[in-house]
Amino acid sequence: MANQEEVFKKVISHAKEYGYIFQSSEIYDGLSAVYDYAQNGAELKKNIREYWWRAMVQLNKNIVGIDAAILMHPTTWKASGHVDAFNDPLIDNKDSKKRYRADVLVEDYTAKIETKIEKEVKKAAKRFGDSFDKAQYLTTNPRVVEYQKKIDTILKRLGKSLENEDLADVKALIEELGIVCPVSGSTNWTDVKQFNLMFGTKLGASADSAMDLYLRPETAQGIFVNFLNVQKTGRMKIPFGIAQTGKAFRNEIVARQFIFRMREFEQMEMQFFVKPGSQKEWYEAWKENRMKWHLSLGLGNENYRFHDHEKLAHYADAATDIEFRFPFGFKELEGIHSRTDFDLSAHEEHSGKKLQYFDHEENKSYVPYVVETSIGLDRMFLAIFSHALKEETLENNSTRTVLKLPAVLAPTKAAVLPLVKKDGLPEVAHEIVEDLKWDFNVVYDEKDAVGRRYRRQDAVGTPFCITVDHQTLEDQTVTLRHRDTMEQQRVAISEVKAIITKEVDMKSWLIKM
Ligand code: ATP
Repeated sequence: MANQEEVFKKVISHAKEYGYIFQSSEIYDGLSAVYDYAQNGAELKKNIREYWWRAMVQLNKNIVGIDAAILMHPTTWKASGHVDAFNDPLIDNKDSKKRYRADVLVEDYTAKIETKIEKEVKKAAKRFGDSFDKAQYLTTNPRVVEYQKKIDTILKRLGKSLENEDLADVKALIEELGIVCPVSGSTNWTDVKQFNLMFGTKLGASADSAMDLYLRPETAQGIFVNFLNVQKTGRMKIPFGIAQTGKAFRNEIVARQFIFRMREFEQMEMQFFVKPGSQKEWYEAWKENRMKWHLSLGLGNENYRFHDHEKLAHYADAATDIEFRFPFGFKELEGIHSRTDFDLSAHEEHSGKKLQYFDHEENKSYVPYVVETSIGLDRMFLAIFSHALKEETLENNSTRTVLKLPAVLAPTKAAVLPLVKKDGLPEVAHEIVEDLKWDFNVVYDEKDAVGRRYRRQDAVGTPFCITVDHQTLEDQTVTLRHRDTMEQQRVAISEVKAIITKEVDMKSWLIKM
């Protein structure tokens, strides 16, 4: 496939055409940065959630899962710092009237320099062949070193200005770098302003007694306020974790990247409560654990990297992002943060209730420290879906579009296809469907030539097709076709379930972690 933009367009249109993602309220021209998951999308999303939940909750004796409400007492957001500090710096271009996140404009600028580095590396690798040492090249080639220095200087200054809330300097930086609006091409910028991302709403019927609330901008606070309830009722001993998945809402300034940045999205978070002083160790352990989870899905090690934060949020003493190579470049997929005792202490202060743990070994009480792992379910969906979509040229020069989803996550595991719509073949195919449906999602399809049906299942990502033909009536065998290799094997009907199970069973994937 051609350039990044075209690839991304293809991802979006494929997601719609094959029943994965629709724009929300499309008949009314949609709602910006809000999306609906369609029949296949809902299944894929559910499977990703389940894959995460099993890895985090089922496989860890000391992690339990909860499901807290979206609406929370408003003081929660005062204590968490969201009322005062959950802002993004925004800037408008006076000519195009388009709005941007000032920090993202600068980061996009440095990303372009990074692309130049990648190009140099590619060229050099070609030139030097097997003897090419990438690490050495990155630290010694004068041009590359100069590029990297420029990136570091820019990001350092951006981090510092944001930390000091020096918005005038953020604007100065944008001007000094000569960053232009991608739409108007001009540098006619407004001042940079802070914009709070929380959605407000009201609780209660009468105007004067109604209470101002917020839709939660993260799921984490539902875990912090329940820390002691879970610890006591579950008799949890530190270190232990609380996990949850659920919706979060952010009134994002710019939301132009499909489901990468939505205004309503879903998070999968786990807060791990540890003894103060041991947080660094747990932070490293969770970094490693989460990367293993990602790699177990087989999307390619080269498509992930860590990006440690220069600028730390007000609550953190260490933070990193797991970045994934999306069609528009490496971007944050998951955050791992060492949040200290910031949240529990803040809730103690605002609620007047103790949120402490009595440590029998130490014979004292303390506010635990927290290491969290936080991943966007929708972003994970996009990572998997965009990586899976391939256009292949076949031996006879024809092309096929195939969605190579990890079989464990595919919405439908098998399609059962009678070769023709007569001679008793549909009946046998229906019997197979009836038998397999207790174990996984299967579909029946009898329309069009079998080759076209294979292509349809390839495009929707179904890992197996089971074809019933005249020989089936004689010897109870079917053709089992594999999506990725297009290999066809003749197997007994009685063996089909075991073969498919082996490929789609969560255990056989999770065990690779
Ligand atoms: P970004 O820098 O991209 O705005 P963030 O650092 O604010 O993200 P966190 O608050 O750390 O994100 O949230 C944890 C995870 O939730 C992110 O890694 C991402 O996967 C997901 N996420 C955050 N905001 C959105 C959004 N608007 N739409 C979809 N997913 C999101």
